[in-house]
Amino acid sequence: MHQQIQSILSLYHCDKTRLIDMLWDVQKLHGYIGDEAVGLLSDGLNMSPLDIRETISFYHFFITRPSGRHQVYLCDSVIARMNGYEDVRAALEQEVGCAFGEVNDTNIFGLFDTNCIGLSDQEPAMMVDDVVFTNLTAAKVKDIIGQLKQGKTAGEVANSAGKDRRDVAYVNSLVSDNIRERGEVFFKPGLDYKAILRGCLNKIPSEIIEIVSSSNLRGRGGAGFPTGLKWRLCGEAEGTEKYIICNADEGEPGTFKDRVLLTRSPKDVLLGMVIAAYAIGSRVGIIYLRTEYRYLKDYLEQQLQEFREDGLLGNKILDTEFDFDIRIQMGAGAYICGDETALIESCEGKRGTPRVKPPYPIQKGYLGQPTCVNNVETFASVCRILEKGSDWFKGMGTDESTGTRLLSVSGDCERPGIFEIEWGVTLNHVLEMVGAKDPMAVQISGPSGECVSVAKDGERQICYSDLSCNGSFMIFDKSRNLVDMIKSFMTFFVHESCGICVPCRAGGVDLLHKVELLLAGRACQKDLDDIVSWGALMRATSRCGLGTTAPRPLLTTMEKFPELYQQIIVQSKGPLLPSFDLEEALQGHEKAYKTLVPEEVK
Ligand code: SF4
Repeated sequence: MHQQIQSILSLYHCDKTRLIDMLWDVQKLHGYIGDEAVGLLSDGLNMSPLDIRETISFYHFFITRPSGRHQVYLCDSVIARMNGYEDVRAALEQEVGCAFGEVNDTNIFGLFDTNCIGLSDQEPAMMVDDVVFTNLTAAKVKDIIGQLKQGKTAGEVANSAGKDRRDVAYVNSLVSDNIRERGEVFFKPGLDYKAILRGCLNKIPSEIIEIVSSSNLRGRGGAGFPTGLKWRLCGEAEGTEKYIICNADEGEPGTFKDRVLLTRSPKDVLLGMVIAAYAIGSRVGIIYLRTEYRYLKDYLEQQLQEFREDGLLGNKILDTEFDFDIRIQMGAGAYICGDETALIESCEGKRGTPRVKPPYPIQKGYLGQPTCVNNVETFASVCRILEKGSDWFKGMGTDESTGTRLLSVSGDCERPGIFEIEWGVTLNHVLEMVGAKDPMAVQISGPSGECVSVAKDGERQICYSDLSCNGSFMIFDKSRNLVDMIKSFMTFFVHESCGICVPCRAGGVDLLHKVELLLAGRACQKDLDDIVSWGALMRATSRCGLGTTAPRPLLTTMEKFPELYQQIIVQSKGPLLPSFDLEEALQGHEKAYKTLVPEEVK
């Protein structure tokens, strides 16, 4: 163990900002990160064991005790539950011989829950070690577990043809792309990356920023900040180094478009990063890749290598004085790392706790230097804008929402998958395109977005000024219980809150409790009033987007479907609220009374 940890420390030059990489390497070698490894890392990095454990404990996929030779993480999401999740879960418990949260008697399997793993178009799905299995059924589970019991690795089961992990054919053998509708911007084959970049390097950086600004491209991660403006501010900020980060931590439940872009058009994304680096004066780029997409890592490393060999990355790019290279930083399972400041903390080897802003990352980001964080889809759009020009891009969409957007469509429809739409199309148009029969509601932008009513909102436009969509598009037909869906979303937020601020940490739990009361038929009007006022408090006082948006699924369904809530609340009779269980409360007191009060006093 000592020698192995020393090798890992040397590999990262004892740089504590690479702690997450080191923890992954330790876990890969030993199956978990035990006390001895923590002690050796702490010595080598001159950090306290507590500091190291602080980081480990933040991330879902780091484990600190033996958890089986194969760790099985079954996705528990709203969409999975609509597609046979319960049967698959039962089959896993049956075949493996233990319950979820446990390791089986032979120590071969550990079964665990996890949130959305970016495969909502092919649920139920699970991760086993470093591969994924999709479209699961009980029979498929039996076959997979049977092969693992025979001694095969998860990789051998998933990729029986033995395809090279660096090849797209390997990725294809695990996961389908499900690209249903193509548009003008994405997934174009045969782009001449050298020619596009040469065209850029013949311009001065401010001209590149001007082209991006003129295209009106807005960040595709959700907030919609103008990309050109972000680049200009970052370029102008004071710093000894500047950084480009690609946010590939696609954690919003229901979204999977970045997975498909990274599979089908990874070089569009890489070129977008190179162009951004040239525009702001950066030499170092990072792709922050969510753990759930680790089966893409070798493939992406190969894409980077090909770019280096073609002179598009590295020193003296295309024989100019421009140097820039990119590394991949694996995440370790934390939704909050989709927040750019949390992501930066994670890149520095720490817990993904969002920072207080200002300063903003463009002023003080990664390692305290100006940092430009953009999303996968944003960088892919940049590549095409610099190829075809800003007027071409502005010719699509609306005045304030230019270009196209990728939708990850899942739920009750005939064609779940990826759809490229021009901004400005209506909700009804998309529903027709995807084959949604009898839709009742659409959860736009995942749990942090809004739930819209098809009957009331069908003619609204998908664009930044109306239905601003971050890509997640989950459809629910009339057979679904929306309050059940809300419970799943609220549970998700409770799990994913980083816990640093009280309104989010406590408010999320309180709102979940209210949803449970609603489902149990024990909520009354006061509970609905509490939801509204607590939701407003969370919105006003939480530090980051998770806390401010967590009440939205509840508030937006209450606004759009008030009749659903009115049907399930009870009218308060007498002095006690329905949520107060008198019998349960008295039982506790009776027990305490018996224990504490002597018999003779009674
Ligand atoms: Fe953490 Fe929630 Fe506060 Fe965001 S709002 S910083 S997730 S506790």
